[in-house]
Amino acid sequence: MSRTVYVNGEYLPEEDAKISVFDRGFLFADGVYEVTSVLGGKLIDFAGHATRLERSLSELEMASPVTSDELLEIHRQLVERNGIEDGLVYLQITRGAADRDFAYPEGVAPSIVLFTQSKPGLADSPKVQEGMKVISIEDQRWGRRDIKTVQLLYPSMGKMAAKKAGADDAWMIEDGFITEGTSNNAYIVKGGTIITRHLGNEILHGITRAAVLRFARESQMQVEERAFTLDEAKDADEAFITSASTFVMPVVDIDGAPVGSGRPGPVALRLREIYLEESRQAAV
Ligand code: PMP
Repeated sequence: MSRTVYVNGEYLPEEDAKISVFDRGFLFADGVYEVTSVLGGKLIDFAGHATRLERSLSELEMASPVTSDELLEIHRQLVERNGIEDGLVYLQITRGAADRDFAYPEGVAPSIVLFTQSKPGLADSPKVQEGMKVISIEDQRWGRRDIKTVQLLYPSMGKMAAKKAGADDAWMIEDGFITEGTSNNAYIVKGGTIITRHLGNEILHGITRAAVLRFARESQMQVEERAFTLDEAKDADEAFITSASTFVMPVVDIDGAPVGSGRPGPVALRLREIYLEESRQAAV
């Protein structure tokens, strides 16, 4: 069945939705995006995603074509029109369509596109019991990873390298320290302390990361926001990732060696439980 998508002010069947070949998202990856999860027909962490979107846009001197209230309404409309119970809403805003020129064009309206992906049982992935396997790769992305741009080719290459190695994802390494996963933030647990890289331009400021660290601290868990090495990760008691679409997911294998017991760890599983419970309650 064809989905209803949103393009520049209109709700359209997906086959009728069109974007210009001159769109700078297409020509320059000159655009930003957000992915918001839907559980039980409601949006998880919407306010966090809307705030980060504003920041990404402002770092690129791009104006939002919609207000935050309008954005929420569009998300809700798409969830309803497409009957999404569990799934995702993808949002992309680009600088718009203009003659090809490296300089930003003036007076051009930004393009906005939203669509849904239905993922029944999104919060019940069997991977939670199994745990993920990751490989390590060099981080060869650009230097402004704090801006959520649609320039995702290197993460895509990393994901393919992981697939070819029989793993689920890749953790990226820069100057000896792990930055993050291809589409998630990376954590280890050692002696009961949760360790995850501090915020900066080197990683995306995960919305799930912020919520999970808040819940961890509220539950009196020890949290250290600092860079950690691959050796530290391999020697950790547990490892896990967070992202809007995977929530909290245990990592049980790094470069073919088991992490801790080689089974999903109690800290990751507990954090997943708390995160899902709290965010379902706060969903809008
Ligand atoms: N890092 C990267 C590189 C990502 O692509 C993502 C997912 N968009 C994350 C971290 C996790 O961010 P969030 O929790 O906001 O989904």
